Amino acid sequence: MTPVIALVGRPNVGKSTLFNQMTRTRDALVADFAGLTRDRKYGEGQYEGQRFIVIDTGGLTGDEEGIDAEMARQSMLAVEEADIVLFLVDGRAGLTSGDELIANQLRRTGKPAHLVVNKTDGQDPDVAASEFYQLGFESVYLIAASHNRGIRSMLEDLLPAAEEVEQDSAERYPGIRIGVVGRPNVGKSTLVNRMLGEERVVVYDMPGTTRDSVYIPYERQGQEYTLIDTAGVRRRKSVRETVEKFSIIKTLQAIEDSHVVILVIDAREGLVDQDMHLIGFVLDAGRSLVIAVNKWDGMDSDQRGRVKEQLARRLDFLDYADKHYISALHGSGVGVMYDSIGECYESAMAKWPTNRLTAILEDALTQHQPPLVNGRRIKLRYAHQGGSNPPLVVVHGNQTDALPNAYKRYLENTFRRVLNVRGAPIRFEFRSSE
Ligand code: GDP
Ligand code: GDP
Repeated sequence: MTPVIALVGRPNVGKSTLFNQMTRTRDALVADFAGLTRDRKYGEGQYEGQRFIVIDTGGLTGDEEGIDAEMARQSMLAVEEADIVLFLVDGRAGLTSGDELIANQLRRTGKPAHLVVNKTDGQDPDVAASEFYQLGFESVYLIAASHNRGIRSMLEDLLPAAEEVEQDSAERYPGIRIGVVGRPNVGKSTLVNRMLGEERVVVYDMPGTTRDSVYIPYERQGQEYTLIDTAGVRRRKSVRETVEKFSIIKTLQAIEDSHVVILVIDAREGLVDQDMHLIGFVLDAGRSLVIAVNKWDGMDSDQRGRVKEQLARRLDFLDYADKHYISALHGSGVGVMYDSIGECYESAMAKWPTNRLTAILEDALTQHQPPLVNGRRIKLRYAHQGGSNPPLVVVHGNQTDALPNAYKRYLENTFRRVLNVRGAPIRFEFRSSE
């Protein structure tokens, strides 16, 4: 499973600087999910092919009161949900009483944390770190976040190797991994039950901790699947407070672990900002997307028209993702979603030979030449596949840095159409030989 890294520490120690270095996400996900997360930031990153989720928990002072105490409590909840906790301190400011208070709070969670001494630039790192050893952390990293120093070797040390993780999950969770995600109350549990339906659940893995999603392997019409259930339906005996059972971390991890993500939205409420945040994260993660517009039952034709119009308008950049209008409660529209899931999976995992990709590139060039830059034409010579889930097309040429975005979009649309890629984003990488 994709590891989750939480960053904690006082304000100004360099958490956001480190977050930005680790993620390089265009926009960090700062989502207000039912008041859960006010000032926390979520992003995804990768090191040597191993993906991870990183959370900046916001600044703690260690002695919060009132509303701040509640936020501090939530930051500590994020710590409990994380796999790896990085406790940042400021090597220039030296040890403060706030650091000691936070160190104590961390100790109380019982979660092993790593001490990260930041801002070691311009001084002897060992001297900068020396006074922090009394905090009693066994594992200490010395970094300079704003100089991008020490971060790679820290990640190398902390993260498992990518191939092992993928192999492990392919063995434990066979077939097409489908993540069912969405805000509280949109109908995820109902949908998961409906999708499993009569299918025999082969093995049923109980989660190790409450924060884990439930991974349910099953078979349908000869095809193996694993449903990643973020709502924990089978575990839930009574309908508890929905906000309590919803976890952004769990949701993000399910997205990372999936081949295909079903984003469930509630037709009665239409598309809301939180849905857009989740879509943004699915795109950043490069996962294939199917949109399930649930609770379609009991909507009159005016209401249906309005929802469809809103989706067309706000999701015009997503015309390659299938939308299904379903009723998880009654089951209508659920079966045909499997067709989209299959196509998405094929698209995400497809392997294309170099000569095919190059032929598509050549055709695209014939239709529309790339522009001139400083009197010279940008040359694109050949293309090969660099990876899957998401599919990556590597294009080789000259002066590719100068390729305008509009031309990149044109290429993406052309490849998408010719290769019939559904649901999955196609990533492009341009390599110049000069
Ligand atoms: P946060 O409040 O913990 O998120 O801290 P920020 O990331 O906003 O950083 C606080 C200040 O420390 C900013 O002015 C950063 O530029 C600076 N800073 C962060 N990392 C380093 C570092 O490695 N070296 C130095 N000298 N300054 C840093
Ligand atoms: P979750 O929090 O996303 O897992 O949502 P649940 O599956 O627990 O559903 C929330 C509420 O919406 C429950 O009362 C469900 O019965 C109801 N619900 C779920 N799907 C549908 C649907 O397709 N139609 C209608 N009318 N209600 C639904």
